[in-house]
Amino acid sequence: MTQGIQLTGKCMCGAVRITGIASEPKVAACHCDMCRRWTSGPYFEVTCKNVTFEGEDSITKIRSSDWAERGFCKKCGSNLFYHIIDSNEFQIAAGILDDQSDLHLSLQVFVDRKPTFYTLADKTETMTAAEVYAAYAPPPGQN
Ligand SMILES: [Zn+2]
Ligand SMILES: [Zn+2]
Repeated sequence: MTQGIQLTGKCMCGAVRITGIASEPKVAACHCDMCRRWTSGPYFEVTCKNVTFEGEDSITKIRSSDWAERGFCKKCGSNLFYHIIDSNEFQIAAGILDDQSDLHLSLQVFVDRKPTFYTLADKTETMTAAEVYAAYAPPPGQN
C-alpha cells in the first residue's frame, strides 16, 4: 500500500479523469519557456505516483523533449500532465485537481526564466535553469 494523499482531478470538459497519490500536498511551479507557452503562465504541478486515467482515449500525448512527454485533453485542450518517460511519477497539473484546499506552493524552478510581468508572493525554494540541469542532468536547452 502506497502512503500519501489520494488526489482526483478532471479536465475542463470532464472527458478525462485522473487519480494519483501524492507523497505530500506540495505544488511546484515551472517558469520555463515551454511551460509558459503551454499554459500562458507558470506550470503548477503536483507530483503523483500510482496515476490512473479514465477516458484515456481523449488524451493526446506530445513528446516535448527526448526525455519527457506532456498530455492534454484533445476535446477541451486542458493540460493534464508532464511525464518523464520511464518514470512512474507524473507531474499532474494542479489546476485540474478537484480539491486544492490543502495544497501549498513549495518550489519554483527555472526562476531565472520567469518574465518580469508576474511574481509569486509565496516564500518557496527556488532553482535556476542551471541548478535544474545540474540536479536532473538533461542536456541544456529546454525541459
Ligand atoms: Zn476535456
Ligand atoms: Zn517547465
